Order: sequence, then structure tokens, then C-alpha cells
Amino acid sequence: MYDVAIIGGGPGGYAAALYAHNFGLSVALVEKDEVGGTCLLRGCIPAKTWLQTADVYSIVARSADYGVTSSPPEMDWSAALARKQKVVTGLVNGLSGLLKARGVDIIDGYGRLINGGVEVSAADGTTRQVEARNVIIATGSVPRSIPGYDIDGTRIVTSDEALDWPTQPRRVAIIGGGVIGCEFAALLSEVGTKVHLFEALDSLLPGTEPEAVKVLEREFKKKKVKIHTATMVGPAEVGAEGVRVPYGDDSVDVEVVLVAVGRAPVTSGLGLEEHGVTLDQGFVVVDPATMQTSAPGVYAVGDIVAGAPQLAHAGFAEGIAAVTHIATAETAPVDYRAIPLVAYTHPEIASVGLTEAAAREAGIEIEVSSHGMRGVGRAIIQGQTGGVVKIINEKDGPIIGATVAGPGAGEMIHELMYVVAWEALPVEAAAFIHAHPTISEAIGETLLSASGKSLH
Ligand code: NAD
Repeated sequence: MYDVAIIGGGPGGYAAALYAHNFGLSVALVEKDEVGGTCLLRGCIPAKTWLQTADVYSIVARSADYGVTSSPPEMDWSAALARKQKVVTGLVNGLSGLLKARGVDIIDGYGRLINGGVEVSAADGTTRQVEARNVIIATGSVPRSIPGYDIDGTRIVTSDEALDWPTQPRRVAIIGGGVIGCEFAALLSEVGTKVHLFEALDSLLPGTEPEAVKVLEREFKKKKVKIHTATMVGPAEVGAEGVRVPYGDDSVDVEVVLVAVGRAPVTSGLGLEEHGVTLDQGFVVVDPATMQTSAPGVYAVGDIVAGAPQLAHAGFAEGIAAVTHIATAETAPVDYRAIPLVAYTHPEIASVGLTEAAAREAGIEIEVSSHGMRGVGRAIIQGQTGGVVKIINEKDGPIIGATVAGPGAGEMIHELMYVVAWEALPVEAAAFIHAHPTISEAIGETLLSASGKSLH
């Protein structure tokens, strides 16, 4: 009898398993694949490794601007693919070693919820029952598609296959201008692939501050990405040589179509509803204070949680919250207000808290301050002046949201995470001086403006 059985070894599940050692809980982690989940195997880690390759390519391509002569870069796609795999394998091995060191029993197989625990079906056809006082469901998500785009793995693919393309595609249509679509557009266009990016809504990265989206669009245009916003595509016409993607009265011919229109929760066939777990459109409904579902002793974390962001780091936090409740009966709710979001595009776009539009929609009276990167010394030194910082505070009140677009935005957002989480007033946050010369000075300048006294 385990204290906790976890179904799914991605960020939500493995964080719960690792954190349980703080309370001396016994843990069984049921996983049908390697541990690591989407994030390590088919998501964040491989995608960011590819983006790193694109970054290096771009620096070499522009090296003459910095007074360094080099030959024009050439992609060695298979070497980049091998490096991606090496990074993934290293992290997967590290994670499974850490889980074992913490005394977590990793059980290979497909888990289903049963009374009193989990039934595990192994690949060899055998089944066993794992008894547990509590169960955490952490089964994650899979890519969605749209009608007319059946995923065949070669001509029409999702990010699952695109991260393992054996050769560089020369012409790609990406359907969906959300985070996955924009990250792939960034990396592919950087290394010379022709990209058409289709988004149904009227802006890329819907829900992102328009000033930040503009920065990204400018970079995409420099890389000759053809952006088609407010555009619906017709059904794909798959031929021997490629795919035709119709839209309006026009069409584009590409080698491959990458569908990136969101991810669906994996919650069917797991015995959830049979055991009293309430679902809403396939997502699991939980008490956000505890992550407990409608079935006592059954918790859910990660991409399957209704109304929560599908982010690895949200999954970590939810795993911690669930284990804390299991071990102590106390609540440690995730503070969703202050979860940073990062699009690892070139440049990166990172945000925390509310956008201007979301705050206005919520009827909050706000003040808005922003600062570009054009005059920021370090950005000029780096040759990356495309960027903006935007900060939203309640009128005469605390900072409730911020967005940074620019080099290193994904790192810089964390100072604003604390500002939003601790509900700092602009004048309090502006009281501290940022190191010079840094890109972060753009945040310091924006905080000064928000406090009513600008410097530069
Ligand atoms: P998403 O929801 O971020 O974006 C999907 C986009 O596709 C939306 O902009 C939507 O308007 C558009 N779309 C939907 N149907 C369309 C159609 N028929 N034609 C054209 N456009 C259409 O989803 P995603 O980019 O697939 O990512 C999936 C999840 O994974 C998201 O929750 C995302 O946050 C997460 N993720 C996060 C990161 C990160 O944090 N860096 C990276 C990758 C994925």
C-alpha cells in the first residue's frame, strides 16, 4: 500500500513524486513511456534545444556586424538533431536517477484508476494492481488537429514529429500562430526555411500585449516569414511531392504542414468518470486550493486540469500543491496570478499577470507604462534593440501585470513575477537600481515611469 500512486511521469507527475520525499510519503509512479512527459521528450526541452541551434546560426550569420569574419553558416541538420537527442537523453537519465534516489518506485505500464489504487497494464499483456491511499492523475495532453488535416507524420505533422525531422524542410506551412506555431516559425525561418504562418484570429500569440507582438512580427518579416492572420485554411491537398494549403482564393505549396492549434487533455479510458471524477470538456475539474477532484483521494495536476494553463511549470506547482494536501491536509494553492509565460521566439516574449486589455475587460482602472529597447546600451551592444517593456498597475495601486519582449525576456520576467506576486507599488519597485549596462535596465526605466518620474 503506497501513500501515493501517480499516473503519468511528466512535469506534474514527476514533480509530485520528487516533492513527496519532503514528507516521507511512499510513491509509485506509473509511466508507459520514459519519464519526462511532453516537456522533456516532445516539448519544452527539445524545442528549446532546436531554438538554441537557430540562435547560434543567427549569430554566425551576423558575425561580420560585430567585426568577426566567418564563412556563411550552414546547417548540419543531423548534428543538430543528435545534439537535441543528447540533451533530452541526458535529462531523462538524470530525472530517472533522481526519482530512484528519492525512493520512488517507477512502474512501467499503462495506468487506470480503480477502487483503492491503480491498475497497471504492462507491454507484455500482464496486469497488476497498485494499492494506494491517494492517486494523482497527471496524464498530460496530446496535439489537436483540425478537419482536413489528418496527421500522417510526414506531410502533415504536429510538434511531436517536427522535433525529429530527419532533414531540414525547405518550405513549411504552420497552422496556428500560438506559442508552438511562433516558436517553430522563429527557429525554421532563422535557419533559412521558408515559412507560411496561418492564424485564425487577428493577431499572432492571441492574448499577448500588441506592442510585444509587433516586435515579433517585425523580426518575422525580416526573416521573410509570410504571416497570414485572420485567415482560415481549407482542407490540405496532399500530393506525392508536397502539400497544397488553400486559403481564401489563394493557396501555398509546401513540403510539410505543421499543425499547432492547441493540445487536448488525455483523460479518456482512464476510469476517471466511472470512479466519480468530474470532467468538463475532457479536462478534470479540481478544487484549486488542493488539486483534489470530485473523487476523494484522487487528485489531478498538469495539462489535464480545467481552467489552468498548460505549462510545465504550472504542472510542477500543481504537483507540489497536491502532495502538500495529501501529506498535511493543509492547502498550498498555486498562485496562478503570478505564473510567468514565455514564448521562446527570437526575441523572446514573456509576461506575468494581466495584460492591459485583460485588466480593462475586468473593469480595473489602470495606468500603463512602457519603454523600448532602442536606447538601452546593452541591447545596442548585443545588436538586439527590438524589444519593449510594458507594465500595468492599478491606478494609484500595485503592479498587476507586465510583459517583456526582447533578448533574454524569459529570464528577465522573473523580477516582475515577484513584483506582481507581492503586489508591489510602482514606487516601491522603482526604488532599486538595476546594474548598468544590462537589458534589465529597460525594466528599471519602465518602473520609474510607472512611479511617475522617468529618467531617460
Ligand atoms: P495555443 O493555444 O497557444 O495556440 C493555438 C493557436 O492556433 C491559437 O492562436 C488559435 O487561435 C490558432 N488556431 C486554432 N484553430 C486554427 C485554425 N483552424 N486555423 C488557424 N489557426 C488556428 O496552442 P499551441 O501553440 O498548440 O500550444 C499548446 C499548448 O502548449 C499551449 O497551452 C501552450 O501554452 C503550451 N506551450 C507552451 C510553450 C511555452 O510556454 N513556451 C511552448 C509550447 C507550447
